[in-house]
Amino acid sequence: MHTRTTPVLIVGAGLGGLSTALFLGLHGVPALVAERHPGTSLEPKARGQMPAAMEALRAAGLERAFLDAAPPGRPEMTIAIAESVTGRVFHSITEAMPDFARYSPAPTGMVSQERAEPLLAARAAELGADIRFSTRLESFTDGPDGVTAVLRDLTTGEAYEVEAAYLVGADGHRGGIREAAGIGAHGRGTIGESTSLLFEADLDLALDGAAVQMHYLQNPALPGGSGAFVSTDTPGRFVAAVEARAPRDEEGAREIVRLVTGLPELEVKLLGATTWSTACRVADRFSSGRVHLVGDAAHVMPPTGGQGGNSALMDGHHLAWKLAAVVRGQAGPGLLDSHDAERRPFAECLVEQQYANMVHRMSPHLADDTVADRIDPARLLFGYRCPAGAFVPEPTAPSDDALFEDPAAPSGRPGTRAPHVPLAGGSTRDLYGRGFVLLTDDEGRRSAAERAAERLGVPVAVPALAGDWAAAHGVTPSGAVLVRPDGLIAWRERAQGDPAEVERALRVVLDR
Ligand SMILES: Cc1cc2nc3c(=O)[nH]c(=O)nc-3n(C[C@H](O)[C@H](O)[C@H](O)COP(=O)(O)OP(=O)(O)OC[C@H]3O[C@@H](n4cnc5c(N)ncnc54)[C@H](O)[C@@H]3O)c2cc1C
Repeated sequence: MHTRTTPVLIVGAGLGGLSTALFLGLHGVPALVAERHPGTSLEPKARGQMPAAMEALRAAGLERAFLDAAPPGRPEMTIAIAESVTGRVFHSITEAMPDFARYSPAPTGMVSQERAEPLLAARAAELGADIRFSTRLESFTDGPDGVTAVLRDLTTGEAYEVEAAYLVGADGHRGGIREAAGIGAHGRGTIGESTSLLFEADLDLALDGAAVQMHYLQNPALPGGSGAFVSTDTPGRFVAAVEARAPRDEEGAREIVRLVTGLPELEVKLLGATTWSTACRVADRFSSGRVHLVGDAAHVMPPTGGQGGNSALMDGHHLAWKLAAVVRGQAGPGLLDSHDAERRPFAECLVEQQYANMVHRMSPHLADDTVADRIDPARLLFGYRCPAGAFVPEPTAPSDDALFEDPAAPSGRPGTRAPHVPLAGGSTRDLYGRGFVLLTDDEGRRSAAERAAERLGVPVAVPALAGDWAAAHGVTPSGAVLVRPDGLIAWRERAQGDPAEVERALRVVLDR
Protein backbone atom coordinates (compact mmCIF):
# COMPACT_ATOMS: atom_id res chain seq x y z
CA MET A 1 0.00 0.00 0.00
CA HIS A 2 1.54 3.33 -0.94
CA THR A 3 1.39 6.32 1.42
CA ARG A 4 0.96 9.98 0.73
CA THR A 5 1.01 12.89 3.13
CA THR A 6 -1.16 15.98 3.42
CA PRO A 7 -1.43 18.66 6.09
CA VAL A 8 -5.22 18.21 6.35
CA LEU A 9 -7.38 15.31 5.19
CA ILE A 10 -11.03 16.26 4.75
CA VAL A 11 -13.59 13.48 4.37
CA GLY A 12 -16.75 14.56 2.55
CA ALA A 13 -17.16 17.00 -0.34
CA GLY A 14 -20.45 18.53 0.78
CA LEU A 15 -20.82 22.15 1.84
CA GLY A 16 -18.86 21.57 5.07
CA GLY A 17 -15.89 19.75 3.53
CA LEU A 18 -15.61 21.95 0.45
CA SER A 19 -15.85 25.11 2.53
CA THR A 20 -13.06 23.88 4.82
CA ALA A 21 -10.91 23.07 1.75
CA LEU A 22 -11.71 26.43 0.14
CA PHE A 23 -10.76 28.53 3.16
CA LEU A 24 -7.72 26.39 3.97
CA GLY A 25 -6.60 27.13 0.41
CA LEU A 26 -7.21 30.83 0.93
CA HIS A 27 -4.93 30.65 3.99
CA GLY A 28 -2.24 28.86 2.00
CA VAL A 29 -2.82 25.24 3.05
CA PRO A 30 -3.65 22.68 0.35
CA ALA A 31 -5.96 19.95 1.70
CA LEU A 32 -6.80 16.51 0.39
CA VAL A 33 -10.56 15.93 0.12
CA ALA A 34 -11.97 12.40 -0.16
CA GLU A 35 -15.57 11.97 -1.35
CA ARG A 36 -17.10 8.56 -1.92
CA HIS A 37 -19.60 9.79 -4.51
CA PRO A 38 -18.42 10.29 -8.11
CA GLY A 39 -19.25 14.03 -7.94
CA THR A 40 -20.97 16.73 -5.94
CA SER A 41 -24.66 16.60 -4.89
CA LEU A 42 -27.23 16.02 -7.62
CA GLU A 43 -30.05 17.21 -5.36
CA PRO A 44 -30.87 20.90 -4.76
CA LYS A 45 -31.35 20.35 -0.95
CA ALA A 46 -30.00 23.32 1.06
CA ARG A 47 -30.82 26.60 -0.62
CA GLY A 48 -29.73 30.09 0.29
CA GLN A 49 -26.63 31.74 1.72
CA MET A 50 -27.04 34.10 4.65
CA PRO A 51 -25.14 37.43 4.37
CA ALA A 52 -22.35 36.20 6.69
CA ALA A 53 -21.76 33.25 4.35
CA MET A 54 -21.79 35.61 1.35
CA GLU A 55 -19.19 37.82 3.07
CA ALA A 56 -16.93 34.78 3.46
CA LEU A 57 -17.50 33.83 -0.17
CA ARG A 58 -16.72 37.43 -1.20
CA ALA A 59 -13.36 37.15 0.56
CA ALA A 60 -12.71 33.91 -1.34
CA GLY A 61 -13.52 35.54 -4.69
CA LEU A 62 -16.81 33.67 -5.14
CA GLU A 63 -19.49 36.28 -4.50
CA ARG A 64 -20.05 37.09 -8.18
CA ALA A 65 -20.27 33.42 -9.12
CA PHE A 66 -22.89 32.84 -6.42
CA LEU A 67 -24.94 35.84 -7.49
CA ASP A 68 -24.81 34.66 -11.11
CA ALA A 69 -25.87 31.12 -10.13
CA ALA A 70 -29.19 32.25 -8.60
CA PRO A 71 -32.20 30.78 -10.37
CA PRO A 72 -34.06 32.94 -12.89
CA GLY A 73 -36.93 35.14 -11.76
CA ARG A 74 -37.38 38.24 -9.61
CA PRO A 75 -34.27 38.25 -7.40
CA GLU A 76 -35.97 37.44 -4.11
CA MET A 77 -37.28 34.59 -2.00
CA THR A 78 -40.96 34.15 -1.27
CA ILE A 79 -41.39 32.15 1.93
CA ALA A 80 -44.82 31.61 3.45
CA ILE A 81 -46.79 29.36 5.78
CA ALA A 82 -49.91 28.32 3.89
CA GLU A 83 -52.59 25.74 3.36
CA SER A 84 -51.28 24.96 -0.15
CA VAL A 85 -49.29 26.83 -2.80
CA THR A 86 -52.46 28.45 -4.15
CA GLY A 87 -54.51 28.27 -0.93
CA ARG A 88 -54.82 30.46 2.14
CA VAL A 89 -51.57 32.06 3.37
CA PHE A 90 -51.38 32.05 7.17
CA HIS A 91 -48.15 34.02 7.49
CA SER A 92 -45.54 35.55 5.16
CA ILE A 93 -42.09 34.82 6.54
CA THR A 94 -40.40 36.99 3.90
CA GLU A 95 -42.41 40.03 4.89
CA ALA A 96 -41.64 39.50 8.58
CA MET A 97 -37.88 39.11 7.94
CA PRO A 98 -35.73 42.00 9.20
CA ASP A 99 -33.65 43.97 6.71
CA PHE A 100 -30.16 42.47 7.04
CA ALA A 101 -28.52 45.37 5.11
CA ARG A 102 -27.76 47.19 8.36
CA TYR A 103 -25.78 44.18 9.63
CA SER A 104 -23.81 43.16 6.56
CA PRO A 105 -22.60 44.67 3.28
CA ALA A 106 -23.33 41.37 1.52
CA PRO A 107 -26.65 40.34 -0.01
CA THR A 108 -28.41 37.06 0.70
CA GLY A 109 -27.48 34.33 -1.79
CA MET A 110 -30.11 32.10 -3.37
CA VAL A 111 -28.00 29.24 -4.67
CA SER A 112 -28.96 25.60 -4.11
CA GLN A 113 -26.55 22.98 -2.82
CA GLU A 114 -26.51 21.38 -6.26
CA ARG A 115 -25.06 24.56 -7.76
CA ALA A 116 -23.07 25.77 -4.75
CA GLU A 117 -20.94 22.66 -4.36
CA PRO A 118 -19.35 22.72 -7.86
CA LEU A 119 -18.52 26.43 -7.38
CA LEU A 120 -16.84 25.73 -4.04
CA ALA A 121 -15.04 22.68 -5.43
CA ALA A 122 -13.66 24.53 -8.46
CA ARG A 123 -12.36 27.45 -6.38
CA ALA A 124 -10.95 25.15 -3.68
CA ALA A 125 -9.07 23.22 -6.39
CA GLU A 126 -7.79 26.52 -7.84
CA LEU A 127 -6.46 27.36 -4.36
CA GLY A 128 -4.62 24.05 -4.13
CA ALA A 129 -7.09 21.44 -2.81
CA ASP A 130 -6.74 17.92 -4.17
CA ILE A 131 -10.36 16.74 -4.41
CA ARG A 132 -10.71 13.01 -4.99
CA PHE A 133 -14.18 11.79 -5.90
CA SER A 134 -15.10 8.08 -5.85
CA THR A 135 -12.76 7.82 -2.87
CA ARG A 136 -13.97 6.39 0.41
CA LEU A 137 -12.47 6.65 3.86
CA GLU A 138 -12.19 3.07 5.11
CA SER A 139 -10.61 3.63 8.54
CA PHE A 140 -8.30 5.92 10.45
CA THR A 141 -6.16 6.02 13.57
CA ASP A 142 -5.55 9.21 15.49
CA GLY A 143 -2.08 9.28 17.04
CA PRO A 144 -0.08 11.87 18.96
CA ASP A 145 1.85 12.92 15.85
CA GLY A 146 -0.84 12.70 13.22
CA VAL A 147 -3.71 10.80 11.67
CA THR A 148 -3.21 7.77 9.47
CA ALA A 149 -6.16 7.01 7.22
CA VAL A 150 -6.90 4.33 4.67
CA LEU A 151 -8.68 5.56 1.54
CA ARG A 152 -10.03 3.40 -1.25
CA ASP A 153 -10.28 4.50 -4.85
CA LEU A 154 -13.70 3.11 -5.78
CA THR A 155 -13.00 3.16 -9.51
CA THR A 156 -9.87 0.96 -9.32
CA GLY A 157 -10.56 -0.73 -5.97
CA GLU A 158 -7.05 0.26 -4.82
CA ALA A 159 -6.54 1.17 -1.15
CA TYR A 160 -3.80 3.55 0.00
CA GLU A 161 -2.66 5.27 3.17
CA VAL A 162 -2.77 8.97 3.89
CA GLU A 163 -0.80 10.56 6.70
CA ALA A 164 -2.23 13.89 7.77
CA ALA A 165 -1.57 16.32 10.58
CA TYR A 166 -5.36 16.74 11.01
CA LEU A 167 -8.55 15.01 9.92
CA VAL A 168 -11.74 16.99 9.29
CA GLY A 169 -14.90 14.90 9.56
CA ALA A 170 -17.21 16.52 7.02
CA ASP A 171 -18.93 13.23 6.30
CA GLY A 172 -22.50 14.34 6.97
CA HIS A 173 -25.25 12.89 9.12
CA ARG A 174 -24.62 9.31 8.00
CA GLY A 175 -20.81 9.46 8.28
CA GLY A 176 -18.85 7.33 10.69
CA ILE A 177 -15.99 9.62 11.75
CA ARG A 178 -17.73 11.05 14.82
CA GLU A 179 -18.33 7.65 16.37
CA ALA A 180 -14.94 6.29 15.30
CA ALA A 181 -13.35 9.27 17.08
CA GLY A 182 -15.21 8.24 20.25
CA ILE A 183 -17.53 11.24 20.23
CA GLY A 184 -21.13 10.69 21.35
CA ALA A 185 -24.14 12.76 20.38
CA HIS A 186 -27.20 14.13 22.11
CA GLY A 187 -30.49 15.79 21.26
CA ARG A 188 -34.06 14.93 20.35
CA GLY A 189 -32.84 12.31 17.86
CA THR A 190 -34.92 11.30 14.86
CA ILE A 191 -38.23 13.13 14.81
CA GLY A 192 -39.82 11.67 11.73
CA GLU A 193 -39.57 10.57 8.13
CA SER A 194 -40.19 12.89 5.20
CA THR A 195 -40.69 12.16 1.53
CA SER A 196 -39.61 14.58 -1.19
CA LEU A 197 -41.14 14.30 -4.67
CA LEU A 198 -39.32 15.96 -7.56
CA PHE A 199 -41.77 16.91 -10.31
CA GLU A 200 -42.38 19.10 -13.32
CA ALA A 201 -45.61 21.02 -13.89
CA ASP A 202 -46.83 24.23 -15.46
CA LEU A 203 -47.25 26.37 -12.35
CA ASP A 204 -46.30 29.76 -13.76
CA LEU A 205 -49.76 31.24 -13.30
CA ALA A 206 -49.96 30.04 -9.71
CA LEU A 207 -46.59 31.49 -8.66
CA ASP A 208 -45.45 35.08 -8.22
CA GLY A 209 -42.27 34.93 -10.30
CA ALA A 210 -39.77 35.18 -7.40
CA ALA A 211 -36.51 33.31 -8.03
CA VAL A 212 -37.02 31.14 -4.94
CA GLN A 213 -40.42 30.03 -3.72
CA MET A 214 -40.92 28.14 -0.54
CA HIS A 215 -44.19 27.25 1.13
CA TYR A 216 -44.45 25.48 4.47
CA LEU A 217 -47.80 23.75 4.52
CA GLN A 218 -50.26 22.96 7.27
CA ASN A 219 -53.11 20.95 5.83
CA PRO A 220 -54.92 17.98 7.42
CA ALA A 221 -55.51 16.52 3.94
CA LEU A 222 -51.76 15.92 3.50
CA PRO A 223 -50.19 12.68 4.76
CA GLY A 224 -48.82 13.60 8.20
CA GLY A 225 -50.82 16.86 8.11
CA SER A 226 -47.94 19.03 6.91
CA GLY A 227 -45.51 19.49 4.05
CA ALA A 228 -43.44 21.88 2.00
CA PHE A 229 -43.12 23.12 -1.56
CA VAL A 230 -39.84 24.45 -2.96
CA SER A 231 -38.85 25.69 -6.40
CA THR A 232 -35.60 24.38 -7.92
CA ASP A 233 -32.96 25.91 -10.19
CA THR A 234 -34.78 24.66 -13.26
CA PRO A 235 -37.89 26.60 -14.30
CA GLY A 236 -40.97 24.37 -14.16
CA ARG A 237 -39.34 21.88 -11.77
CA PHE A 238 -40.30 21.72 -8.09
CA VAL A 239 -40.07 19.64 -4.92
CA ALA A 240 -43.13 18.70 -2.87
CA ALA A 241 -42.36 17.23 0.54
CA VAL A 242 -44.61 15.65 3.14
CA GLU A 243 -43.94 14.72 6.72
CA ALA A 244 -44.45 11.01 6.28
CA ARG A 245 -43.48 8.01 4.26
CA ALA A 246 -45.65 8.94 1.30
CA PRO A 247 -47.03 6.39 -1.17
CA ARG A 248 -44.43 5.54 -3.77
CA ASP A 249 -46.92 4.54 -6.46
CA GLU A 250 -47.15 7.13 -9.24
CA GLU A 251 -50.82 8.03 -8.82
CA GLY A 252 -50.52 8.38 -5.02
CA ALA A 253 -47.50 10.64 -5.47
CA ARG A 254 -49.29 12.79 -8.07
CA GLU A 255 -52.20 13.16 -5.68
CA ILE A 256 -49.83 14.54 -3.05
CA VAL A 257 -48.43 17.08 -5.52
CA ARG A 258 -51.99 18.20 -6.30
CA LEU A 259 -52.77 18.61 -2.60
CA VAL A 260 -49.52 20.52 -2.05
CA THR A 261 -50.19 22.87 -4.96
CA GLY A 262 -53.92 23.10 -4.26
CA LEU A 263 -54.58 22.36 -7.94
CA PRO A 264 -56.64 19.16 -8.23
CA GLU A 265 -56.44 19.06 -12.04
CA LEU A 266 -52.68 19.76 -12.33
CA GLU A 267 -50.77 17.75 -14.95
CA VAL A 268 -47.79 16.35 -13.04
CA LYS A 269 -44.65 14.69 -14.42
CA LEU A 270 -42.89 12.84 -11.59
CA LEU A 271 -39.11 12.72 -11.76
CA GLY A 272 -38.18 10.98 -8.51
CA ALA A 273 -38.83 10.44 -4.81
CA THR A 274 -36.51 10.33 -1.79
CA THR A 275 -37.23 9.55 1.83
CA TRP A 276 -35.17 11.19 4.55
CA SER A 277 -35.26 11.59 8.31
CA THR A 278 -35.68 14.82 10.19
CA ALA A 279 -33.49 14.84 13.27
CA CYS A 280 -32.04 17.04 16.00
CA ARG A 281 -28.61 15.83 17.05
CA VAL A 282 -25.43 17.55 18.26
CA ALA A 283 -22.04 15.92 18.76
CA ASP A 284 -20.95 15.94 22.42
CA ARG A 285 -17.68 17.52 21.28
CA PHE A 286 -16.68 18.96 17.92
CA SER A 287 -13.04 17.91 18.34
CA SER A 288 -11.19 14.90 19.67
CA GLY A 289 -7.42 14.64 19.39
CA ARG A 290 -6.56 15.58 15.81
CA VAL A 291 -10.09 15.07 14.51
CA HIS A 292 -12.46 18.03 14.03
CA LEU A 293 -16.09 17.82 12.93
CA VAL A 294 -17.96 20.27 10.69
CA GLY A 295 -21.46 20.45 9.20
CA ASP A 296 -23.95 17.63 9.63
CA ALA A 297 -21.22 15.40 11.10
CA ALA A 298 -21.29 17.79 14.07
CA HIS A 299 -24.95 18.86 14.11
CA VAL A 300 -28.11 17.71 12.39
CA MET A 301 -31.18 19.94 12.36
CA PRO A 302 -34.55 20.13 10.61
CA PRO A 303 -34.31 22.15 7.36
CA THR A 304 -36.86 24.77 8.54
CA GLY A 305 -34.92 28.01 8.57
CA GLY A 306 -32.24 27.09 6.06
CA GLN A 307 -29.34 26.90 8.51
CA GLY A 308 -28.06 23.34 7.88
CA GLY A 309 -26.16 24.28 4.76
CA ASN A 310 -25.19 27.72 6.04
CA SER A 311 -23.78 26.39 9.29
CA ALA A 312 -21.83 23.69 7.42
CA LEU A 313 -20.27 26.40 5.26
CA MET A 314 -19.55 28.64 8.24
CA ASP A 315 -18.06 25.80 10.31
CA GLY A 316 -15.49 25.38 7.54
CA HIS A 317 -14.87 29.11 7.41
CA HIS A 318 -14.26 29.38 11.16
CA LEU A 319 -12.16 26.20 11.42
CA ALA A 320 -9.96 26.72 8.35
CA TRP A 321 -7.94 29.75 9.49
CA LYS A 322 -7.21 28.02 12.80
CA LEU A 323 -6.05 24.79 11.15
CA ALA A 324 -3.98 26.81 8.69
CA ALA A 325 -2.34 28.85 11.46
CA VAL A 326 -1.42 25.68 13.39
CA VAL A 327 -0.22 23.77 10.32
CA ARG A 328 1.90 26.75 9.22
CA GLY A 329 3.48 27.05 12.65
CA GLN A 330 1.89 30.45 13.34
CA ALA A 331 -0.19 29.14 16.24
CA GLY A 332 0.03 26.52 18.94
CA PRO A 333 -2.32 23.51 18.83
CA GLY A 334 -4.35 25.02 21.69
CA LEU A 335 -5.95 27.34 19.12
CA LEU A 336 -7.90 24.34 17.83
CA ASP A 337 -9.61 23.81 21.21
CA SER A 338 -11.65 26.88 20.33
CA HIS A 339 -13.45 25.04 17.51
CA ASP A 340 -15.61 23.19 20.03
CA ALA A 341 -15.79 26.08 22.49
CA GLU A 342 -17.01 28.53 19.85
CA ARG A 343 -19.10 26.50 17.41
CA ARG A 344 -20.89 23.97 19.63
CA PRO A 345 -22.93 26.39 21.80
CA PHE A 346 -24.08 28.08 18.61
CA ALA A 347 -25.02 24.77 17.00
CA GLU A 348 -26.93 23.62 20.11
CA CYS A 349 -29.01 26.76 19.84
CA LEU A 350 -29.42 26.61 16.06
CA VAL A 351 -30.71 23.02 16.15
CA GLU A 352 -33.38 23.97 18.69
CA GLN A 353 -34.29 27.10 16.72
CA GLN A 354 -34.78 25.09 13.53
CA TYR A 355 -36.91 22.65 15.53
CA ALA A 356 -38.97 25.56 16.91
CA ASN A 357 -39.39 26.81 13.32
CA MET A 358 -40.52 23.36 12.27
CA VAL A 359 -43.16 23.26 15.01
CA HIS A 360 -44.32 26.77 14.16
CA ARG A 361 -44.31 26.42 10.38
CA MET A 362 -45.32 22.81 9.82
CA SER A 363 -46.10 20.81 12.94
CA PRO A 364 -48.07 22.84 15.52
CA HIS A 365 -49.24 19.57 17.08
CA LEU A 366 -45.68 19.10 18.44
CA ALA A 367 -45.85 22.33 20.47
CA ASP A 368 -44.98 21.73 24.12
CA ASP A 369 -42.89 23.38 26.81
CA THR A 370 -39.64 21.85 25.48
CA VAL A 371 -39.83 24.00 22.33
CA ALA A 372 -37.43 26.95 22.55
CA ASP A 373 -38.67 30.52 22.28
CA ARG A 374 -37.80 31.67 18.80
CA ILE A 375 -34.96 34.16 18.60
CA ASP A 376 -35.25 37.13 16.25
CA PRO A 377 -33.39 36.10 13.03
CA ALA A 378 -31.05 39.13 13.11
CA ARG A 379 -30.05 38.36 16.69
CA LEU A 380 -29.52 34.68 15.86
CA LEU A 381 -27.48 35.28 12.71
CA PHE A 382 -25.45 38.34 13.73
CA GLY A 383 -25.62 38.59 17.52
CA TYR A 384 -23.89 35.41 18.75
CA ARG A 385 -21.43 35.86 21.61
CA CYS A 386 -18.96 32.99 21.93
CA PRO A 387 -18.95 32.09 25.63
CA ALA A 388 -15.28 31.02 25.37
CA GLY A 389 -12.70 30.60 22.63
CA ALA A 390 -9.71 32.14 20.89
CA PHE A 391 -10.06 35.73 22.08
CA VAL A 392 -9.07 37.85 25.06
CA PRO A 393 -12.23 37.90 27.19
CA GLU A 394 -13.38 41.01 28.98
CA PRO A 395 -14.84 40.82 32.46
CA THR A 396 -18.61 40.78 32.19
CA ALA A 397 -21.31 40.91 34.81
CA PRO A 398 -23.06 37.56 35.43
CA SER A 399 -26.28 39.29 34.34
CA ASP A 400 -24.67 39.97 30.95
CA ASP A 401 -23.87 36.39 29.94
CA ALA A 402 -26.61 35.92 27.31
CA LEU A 403 -25.54 33.93 24.26
CA PHE A 404 -26.97 36.54 21.88
CA GLU A 405 -27.01 40.32 21.77
CA ASP A 406 -28.87 42.84 19.66
CA PRO A 407 -26.72 43.36 16.54
CA ALA A 408 -28.34 46.76 16.06
CA ALA A 409 -26.49 47.84 19.22
CA PRO A 410 -23.33 45.71 19.05
CA SER A 411 -21.26 45.54 22.23
CA GLY A 412 -17.99 45.16 20.31
CA ARG A 413 -16.75 42.80 22.98
CA PRO A 414 -14.28 40.04 22.15
CA GLY A 415 -15.99 36.86 21.01
CA THR A 416 -18.69 38.68 19.03
CA ARG A 417 -18.94 39.34 15.31
CA ALA A 418 -17.17 42.57 14.36
CA PRO A 419 -19.98 44.89 13.25
CA HIS A 420 -20.58 46.18 9.75
CA VAL A 421 -19.65 49.87 9.66
CA PRO A 422 -20.02 51.58 6.28
CA LEU A 423 -16.75 53.23 5.22
CA ALA A 424 -16.00 55.34 2.17
CA GLY A 425 -16.11 52.76 -0.63
CA GLY A 426 -17.18 49.74 1.39
CA SER A 427 -17.58 48.29 4.86
CA THR A 428 -15.34 47.30 7.74
CA ARG A 429 -16.55 43.74 7.03
CA ASP A 430 -14.79 43.85 3.64
CA LEU A 431 -11.46 44.10 5.49
CA TYR A 432 -11.76 40.58 6.93
CA GLY A 433 -11.15 37.12 5.53
CA ARG A 434 -7.40 36.79 5.02
CA GLY A 435 -5.28 37.68 8.06
CA PHE A 436 -5.81 39.59 11.31
CA VAL A 437 -6.88 43.22 11.07
CA LEU A 438 -6.16 45.93 13.63
CA LEU A 439 -8.62 48.81 13.66
CA THR A 440 -7.08 51.91 15.20
CA ASP A 441 -6.31 55.52 14.39
CA ASP A 442 -3.39 55.53 16.83
CA GLU A 443 0.01 55.67 15.09
CA GLY A 444 1.86 54.04 18.02
CA ARG A 445 -0.37 50.99 17.89
CA ARG A 446 -0.23 50.79 14.13
CA SER A 447 3.53 50.42 14.10
CA ALA A 448 3.42 48.11 17.16
CA ALA A 449 1.04 45.84 15.24
CA GLU A 450 3.34 45.80 12.22
CA ARG A 451 6.30 44.86 14.40
CA ALA A 452 4.28 42.16 16.19
CA ALA A 453 3.16 40.72 12.87
CA GLU A 454 6.74 40.46 11.73
CA ARG A 455 7.96 38.92 14.98
CA LEU A 456 5.18 36.34 15.09
CA GLY A 457 5.16 35.66 11.34
CA VAL A 458 1.42 36.31 11.18
CA PRO A 459 -0.35 38.61 8.72
CA VAL A 460 -1.84 41.65 10.50
CA ALA A 461 -3.29 44.37 8.28
CA VAL A 462 -3.54 47.87 9.69
CA PRO A 463 -5.75 49.67 7.17
CA ALA A 464 -6.28 53.42 7.05
CA LEU A 465 -9.91 53.86 8.08
CA ALA A 466 -11.98 56.49 6.32
CA GLY A 467 -15.08 56.66 8.49
CA ASP A 468 -16.45 56.62 12.00
CA TRP A 469 -15.62 53.01 12.86
CA ALA A 470 -14.80 53.33 16.58
CA ALA A 471 -18.13 53.93 18.35
CA ALA A 472 -19.75 50.82 16.84
CA HIS A 473 -16.92 48.77 18.36
CA GLY A 474 -17.26 50.39 21.76
CA VAL A 475 -13.87 52.15 21.63
CA THR A 476 -12.46 55.62 20.97
CA PRO A 477 -10.51 56.24 17.73
CA SER A 478 -7.24 56.06 19.68
CA GLY A 479 -8.35 52.71 21.13
CA ALA A 480 -7.89 49.51 19.14
CA VAL A 481 -9.81 46.45 17.98
CA LEU A 482 -8.10 43.28 16.80
CA VAL A 483 -10.27 41.25 14.41
CA ARG A 484 -9.56 37.61 13.50
CA PRO A 485 -9.43 36.30 9.92
CA ASP A 486 -13.01 35.01 10.35
CA GLY A 487 -14.32 38.46 11.32
CA LEU A 488 -14.69 37.79 15.06
CA ILE A 489 -13.37 40.34 17.55
CA ALA A 490 -10.27 38.93 19.26
CA TRP A 491 -9.34 41.80 21.58
CA ARG A 492 -10.00 45.48 22.11
CA GLU A 493 -8.79 48.38 24.19
CA ARG A 494 -11.20 51.26 24.58
CA ALA A 495 -8.68 54.12 24.68
CA GLN A 496 -4.99 54.71 24.12
CA GLY A 497 -2.87 52.19 26.02
CA ASP A 498 0.40 50.30 25.95
CA PRO A 499 1.16 49.52 22.26
CA ALA A 500 2.72 46.19 23.33
CA GLU A 501 -0.77 44.96 24.23
CA VAL A 502 -1.42 44.12 20.56
CA GLU A 503 1.32 41.49 20.58
CA ARG A 504 0.18 40.14 23.94
CA ALA A 505 -3.34 39.74 22.55
CA LEU A 506 -2.09 37.96 19.43
CA ARG A 507 -0.10 35.57 21.59
CA VAL A 508 -3.18 34.72 23.69
CA VAL A 509 -5.33 34.12 20.61
CA LEU A 510 -2.65 32.08 18.85
CA ASP A 511 -1.68 30.01 21.89
CA ARG A 512 1.96 31.18 21.71
C1 LIG B 1 -34.15 17.25 1.61
C2 LIG B 1 -33.22 18.18 2.31
C3 LIG B 1 -33.47 19.54 2.23
C4 LIG B 1 -32.62 20.41 2.88
N1 LIG B 1 -32.87 21.74 2.78
C5 LIG B 1 -32.05 22.62 3.39
C6 LIG B 1 -32.24 24.03 3.25
O1 LIG B 1 -33.17 24.48 2.62
N2 LIG B 1 -31.33 24.85 3.82
C7 LIG B 1 -30.26 24.38 4.53
O2 LIG B 1 -29.44 25.16 5.00
N3 LIG B 1 -30.07 23.06 4.70
C8 LIG B 1 -30.93 22.17 4.13
N4 LIG B 1 -30.70 20.83 4.26
C9 LIG B 1 -29.56 20.37 5.04
C10 LIG B 1 -28.29 20.41 4.25
O3 LIG B 1 -28.43 19.68 3.05
C11 LIG B 1 -27.15 19.83 5.09
O4 LIG B 1 -27.14 20.49 6.34
C12 LIG B 1 -25.81 20.01 4.39
O5 LIG B 1 -25.79 19.23 3.23
C13 LIG B 1 -24.68 19.59 5.28
O6 LIG B 1 -23.49 19.59 4.56
P1 LIG B 1 -22.32 18.65 4.98
O7 LIG B 1 -21.20 18.99 4.07
O8 LIG B 1 -22.11 18.72 6.43
O9 LIG B 1 -22.86 17.18 4.71
P2 LIG B 1 -23.25 16.46 3.36
O10 LIG B 1 -23.75 17.39 2.34
O11 LIG B 1 -24.14 15.33 3.77
O12 LIG B 1 -21.88 15.88 2.83
C14 LIG B 1 -21.23 14.79 3.44
C15 LIG B 1 -20.45 14.07 2.37
O13 LIG B 1 -19.61 13.11 2.98
C16 LIG B 1 -19.54 11.99 2.13
N5 LIG B 1 -19.08 10.84 2.91
C17 LIG B 1 -19.68 10.25 3.97
N6 LIG B 1 -18.93 9.21 4.42
C18 LIG B 1 -17.84 9.16 3.62
C19 LIG B 1 -16.69 8.29 3.58
N7 LIG B 1 -16.52 7.26 4.44
N8 LIG B 1 -15.76 8.50 2.63
C20 LIG B 1 -15.90 9.52 1.74
N9 LIG B 1 -16.97 10.35 1.73
C21 LIG B 1 -17.92 10.19 2.66
C22 LIG B 1 -20.96 11.85 1.62
O14 LIG B 1 -21.00 11.09 0.43
C23 LIG B 1 -21.37 13.30 1.43
O15 LIG B 1 -21.16 13.75 0.12
C24 LIG B 1 -31.52 19.92 3.63
C25 LIG B 1 -31.29 18.56 3.71
C26 LIG B 1 -32.12 17.69 3.06
C27 LIG B 1 -31.87 16.21 3.17
